Amino acid sequence: PLNCGIVGLPNVGKSTIFNALTSAKAQAANYPFCTIDPNTGTVTVPDERLDQITKLVVPNRTVPTTMEFIDIAGLVEGASKGEGLGNQFLGHIRATDAICHVVRCFDDPEVVHVAGGVNPLHDIDIINTELLLADLDTVDKRAQRVEKLARNTQDAKIKAEASAVAKLKAVLDAGRPARTADLTDDERIAARDLFLITAKPQLYVANVDEAALTVGNAYTEAVEKRAEEEGAQVVRICGALESEIAQLEPAERTEFLESVGLKEPGLNRLIHSAYRLLDLITYFTAGVQEVRAWTIRRGTKGPGAAGVIHSDFERGFIKADCYSCDDLFKYGSEQAVKEKGLLRSEGKEYVVKDGDILFFKFNV
Ligand code: GDP
Repeated sequence: PLNCGIVGLPNVGKSTIFNALTSAKAQAANYPFCTIDPNTGTVTVPDERLDQITKLVVPNRTVPTTMEFIDIAGLVEGASKGEGLGNQFLGHIRATDAICHVVRCFDDPEVVHVAGGVNPLHDIDIINTELLLADLDTVDKRAQRVEKLARNTQDAKIKAEASAVAKLKAVLDAGRPARTADLTDDERIAARDLFLITAKPQLYVANVDEAALTVGNAYTEAVEKRAEEEGAQVVRICGALESEIAQLEPAERTEFLESVGLKEPGLNRLIHSAYRLLDLITYFTAGVQEVRAWTIRRGTKGPGAAGVIHSDFERGFIKADCYSCDDLFKYGSEQAVKEKGLLRSEGKEYVVKDGDILFFKFNV
C-alpha cells in the first residue's frame, strides 16, 4: 500500500500524532489491526459512504480500506551531511510516497524546542533545506555519470535522463523543491528512479494547542501563508487532544468531540488529506457477504482496479457492472438503481471513479 511519511524536527509532536493515528482504539473495531514495525502503522480510512452502503446492503461484514503512515523520527539540522543518524533517516523518507511535515505551532514551556524557540517558518526551512541538500547530492552524483554517457550515445532514455538531471539540478540549486521542476513526460519517467525526496507531494500539519484549533494563531497563519505560496495544503490538528480522543471508546467519543466543538477527530481530516495527497480514490464492492472499500490511484482502469482485489481478477477481467454510490443513496437499492437504467456495464478502458460500486466479471 502507498504510505505517507511523517517528518519534522524533534519535539514537534510527530510521535504523538502517529500514536494517535495507529492506536488500536482509533481503528474500526472490525478491522484486524496490524503493526508492521513500531514506526509503520496501518490506518483505516474513515468513509461515511461505506457506512451508508452498509446500512442499505446489510452485509455480514464491512471492511474499510487502509493506508500506511510511517513515523520518521530523528531528522535534525545537518542530516544531509550525516549529522545524527542523518543518512538512515533520509533513506526512510526516500522510500515513502508522500510527506506529512509536522510543524510545531504551540507554546509549552515544558516542551523543549530544539531550535531555541517556536518559529514554524524557521523549522520548515531547516527540514526543507535538509531534504533539498540530500536531493542535490543525489542529483550531483547522477549528473557526473549520465553526462558522460549522454555524450556518446543516441539512446533516447539516457538523453532524457541527462536533460532531467540538468533541469533538476538547476531547480535545486535555486533552492526550490524538485516537484516544481518543469519536466517532459520522458524526463519525468527518467527521473523516477532518483527517488528524490522533494519531488514527493508534501502537506503541512500545524500542531496547535486546543485554544487555536478552530481559530488558529499567529504561527498557523505564517504556515498557511507559506503553504499557499508553495501550493501545499495545511491540516490544523491538536496532537495532545487527538491522543486523548484516540484513547476513548467509540461510544464516548462522540460526546467528547461535541464537548470540544469538533464534528470528527482531526485525524480524520489528516487521513483524508494524506489520501488526496497520494492521489488516491476509493471504489466499493457491495454484496450481502461483504461490503468493502478499495483504494486505487486516480486514473486506474477497470482491470487495474480489479487487480487490487486479486491478480486473477486483473488477468481474467472481462467487464464490470458499475453504478455510483450516490445513485444507491438516492434510490435505496441496487435493484432500484438498475430499474432506473443507472447500472452500466464497463469494459477494460473504463476509468474507475471515486465512489463507484463495482462488480467484476472475469475468466478464471
Ligand atoms: P516528536 O519528537 O516530534 O515525535 O514529538 P513528540 O510527539 O514526542 O512530542 C514532544 C512533546 O510535545 C511531548 O512531551 C508531547 O506530549 C508534547 N506535545 C505533542 N503534541 C502536543 C500538543 O498539541 N500540545 C502540547 N502542549 N504538547 C504537545
